[in-house]
Amino acid sequence: MIEHSGWTLYKRLLGYVKPYWRAFALAILGYAIYAASSTALAEMMKRLIDGIQNPDAAFRLFLPLFVVGMFATRGVGTFLGTYFMSSVARNLVHALRCDVFNHMLHLPGHFFDGHSTGHLISRVTYHVEQVTGAATKAVTILLREGLFVIGLVSYLLWTNWMLTLLFLAVTPLIGVVVSYASKRFRRISRRIQRSMGDVTHVASEALSGYRVVRTHGAEAYEKARFAEASEVNRRQSMKEALTKATSTPVIQLLVALSLALLVWLAMSPTLLDAMTPGEFVAFVTAAALMAKPVRQLTEINSEIQKGIAAAGELFGLLEEPPESDEGTRDPGRLAGRVRLEGVRFAYGEDQPEVLKGIDLEVAPGEMVAIVGRSGSGKSTLVGLLPRFYRPTAGRILIDEVPLEAFRLQPLRRQIALVSQQVTLFNASIADNIAYGIDDPDRAAIEAAARAAHAHEFIERMPGGYDAVIGENGVMLSGGQRQRLAIARAIFKDAPLLVLDEATSALDTESERHIQAALEEVCRGRTTFVIAHRLSTIERADRILVLEQGEVVEQGSHAELLARDGAYAALHRLQFQEPA
Ligand code: ADP
Ligand code: MG
Repeated sequence: MIEHSGWTLYKRLLGYVKPYWRAFALAILGYAIYAASSTALAEMMKRLIDGIQNPDAAFRLFLPLFVVGMFATRGVGTFLGTYFMSSVARNLVHALRCDVFNHMLHLPGHFFDGHSTGHLISRVTYHVEQVTGAATKAVTILLREGLFVIGLVSYLLWTNWMLTLLFLAVTPLIGVVVSYASKRFRRISRRIQRSMGDVTHVASEALSGYRVVRTHGAEAYEKARFAEASEVNRRQSMKEALTKATSTPVIQLLVALSLALLVWLAMSPTLLDAMTPGEFVAFVTAAALMAKPVRQLTEINSEIQKGIAAAGELFGLLEEPPESDEGTRDPGRLAGRVRLEGVRFAYGEDQPEVLKGIDLEVAPGEMVAIVGRSGSGKSTLVGLLPRFYRPTAGRILIDEVPLEAFRLQPLRRQIALVSQQVTLFNASIADNIAYGIDDPDRAAIEAAARAAHAHEFIERMPGGYDAVIGENGVMLSGGQRQRLAIARAIFKDAPLLVLDEATSALDTESERHIQAALEEVCRGRTTFVIAHRLSTIERADRILVLEQGEVVEQGSHAELLARDGAYAALHRLQFQEPA
């Protein structure tokens, strides 16, 4: 991942603030008011002391009014600053969070192969919150107290510039401490955030796989794994705490030293003579008032660095290139002629080739079955059609047009895919069948469910088509889930249909029913069927036998049996026919 300097990150974050510049300006105005009215406290001290020395009636009235006015103004400033800053920060976080999520939805398959869901989820939850911390609390303090410090320093300069310059002589030292601490904070924060990803990852794995954990008696193992992830997090947090606990007092000590120097110098007879007692008190008051904002400013440093580290991670993610979608052609409704020319594929440069030169020509409406041992590359092959991955060599054409020439989204709309792992959403059955469609037609949903032999069990469920089926359909059996997935594919009514072990979880009886239905559905569509149970594909127009990424045989069921090759061997194995 690209390392960003703090500055480029600030600038990029500031880009997110741009649309809310009005609110931002109001917030700054608010803090400016706050800073100005707070600085006025020093001026008030001066008037008070000078007033005590030669009192008069007008002054007696003026002073209380001044106090009330000052606090009232400061209140207005605080409100403007706090409210509008929160508004900017919350908008920023919302925009950033949506950007990150939206971007993730367009990242290519190999990105998801390389990142755990836990880590990705923690980006949109934990990381984004870290940016909020920096954006709300830290920027608030930075602006409010920063402007206050500027106000105080200006006041000091105005009162006695020479003394002020002496007072400010320690600032370079403070700068060194702050910069060292900042770098350390950022490094540690990055580790903390990654460890939070680990925590989410381990927890989500163990919780979603709770049955496996229990049947293997792996509770102790998972507890240890979780404790380790959490312990890394704790250790890093303690390092952060140590840095914070050290840097803040060190900076404050430096400020105190310069204050002491200031008082000592100010008390020198020559200077005392030059100032009125009021001026002197005002000066020391202003200098002493500096302690609180400086303290707050140093304390929020860790907060800011956390936010910067998180923003770096998020921007890194936003820079991950999305799926390439350079095609310009709209496929319209495809006829479904599919051609593969010398297609080779590996999941990564350092990984073995999974497909080793596949040539294939499929006519519109043809039903092609792919059989072969597990791991021979069947799922990989059909996964290339919706462009989940790109072939490393060779090309794929649909209706004589190279796949890359199509726009991604309309192309995928032309392909219905039922894969080995059924994914269902925690929504109603109707919404699951008509997934991604606004305001779908109920009759069409029901027709699809009937064709997938799902209608009966849906009717029996409390709520019927409106029944909500739990996370990934936990309230359904494996066979029911598969039937819903098939119904979803049928509902999609696409000219290309891919069934990747779509009926493997069904009993023979329901499979036979669905088989009949599928034959109906397959008519007029180009269909790829992958099935372990060979009985389900006997009626395919053509059967391909895949072995270690190569097509070793193809032909109809009868032809392949007659050839007595790989297919016949597979067939014998399954039907236990005596050789
Ligand atoms: P089949 O569907 O025929 O059982 P697959 O196409 O799923 O086989 O897998 C073919 C090979 O590709 C296997 O050796 C598997 O280990 C590998 N493979 C599958 N998916 C990935 C992936 N996302 N990353 C790396 N290798 C993979
Ligand atoms: Mg497979």
